[in-house]
Amino acid sequence: MALPTETVYGLAADALNPAAAGKVFAIKGRPLIDPLIVHVPDLAALARVAEPDPRLTALAPLWPGPLTVVLRRRPEVPDVVTAGLCTVAVRIPAHPVFREVLRLSGLALAAPSANPFGYVSPTRASHVIDSLGERCPWVVDGGPCEHGVESTIVDLSTPGVARLLRPGPVPLERLRALLGEVVTAVRPADQTAAQAAPGMLDRHYSPRTRLRLFPAGGAPDPVASGEAVLFVRRRPDRSGPDVFHLSESGTVEEAAHNLFDLLRRLDARGYALIHAELADPSGVGAAFNDRLTRAAAR
Ligand code: AMP
Ligand code: MG
Repeated sequence: MALPTETVYGLAADALNPAAAGKVFAIKGRPLIDPLIVHVPDLAALARVAEPDPRLTALAPLWPGPLTVVLRRRPEVPDVVTAGLCTVAVRIPAHPVFREVLRLSGLALAAPSANPFGYVSPTRASHVIDSLGERCPWVVDGGPCEHGVESTIVDLSTPGVARLLRPGPVPLERLRALLGEVVTAVRPADQTAAQAAPGMLDRHYSPRTRLRLFPAGGAPDPVASGEAVLFVRRRPDRSGPDVFHLSESGTVEEAAHNLFDLLRRLDARGYALIHAELADPSGVGAAFNDRLTRAAAR
């Protein structure tokens, strides 16, 4: 069943049932080396799947919300969920619909993005239907997702070390304010092995159309006919049928909220190339740039 979260739509299954979790990999075509995030309603439920860590208290202001933590796993979590790692990724989501399903089912739910592996994540119910179709017979429509990019992931599995594995709606600056030092992870050179940071596959979140990125506030390369330009915010000096912008209000939060929806719509229009503007990298701009960069990787 696909459910809305405040980040993107998730394909939810009982995380403690290996057969159910296995189905999620099959439906998405997701490689088994890419572990799933387990969604729980609160810290008490978290303690049933992961070893608690004193730093969770410092992170309490962020929960429920778009933050995933990687902790040492408990033996109850099946290997298929963690890709055999000794750690598990856990999140306490904020979306009222998702929370209600957690409450009614009493389950911990594995819920990766409800899309075929590697394609742009779904931020509306219609995206799930468009890309999974019959493979996912149930979709709960909760409207467009608030953040529109996947959760921030921080690895706390090593005592005394906090490592950002994936930028997301909770900015690195905010994590540092709560945890002190947070190191940023380096992309693994070997992209085929079971990974400490599997969300770090270079090519991910990709539309079919080729993307070429240009710096925040800068100008695209010369634009040929049949190519589109995608700005973060409206540029008064730039307009035309093939010129688009992601934010009316000019905020990077709004741009991130709209990014995957607009990429999907442009993908359907058969452009030869999309020139896309990077955002100022502060705050959620880091996540925005991360997703665009991976969407552009070939
Ligand atoms: P998603 O596809 O948005 O559900 O996110 C899943 C991502 O969470 C994976 O691709 C990994 O980046 C990350 N993840 C899940 N489990 C772990 C783990 N045990 N250790 C490190 N990262 C993990
Ligand atoms: Mg995904």
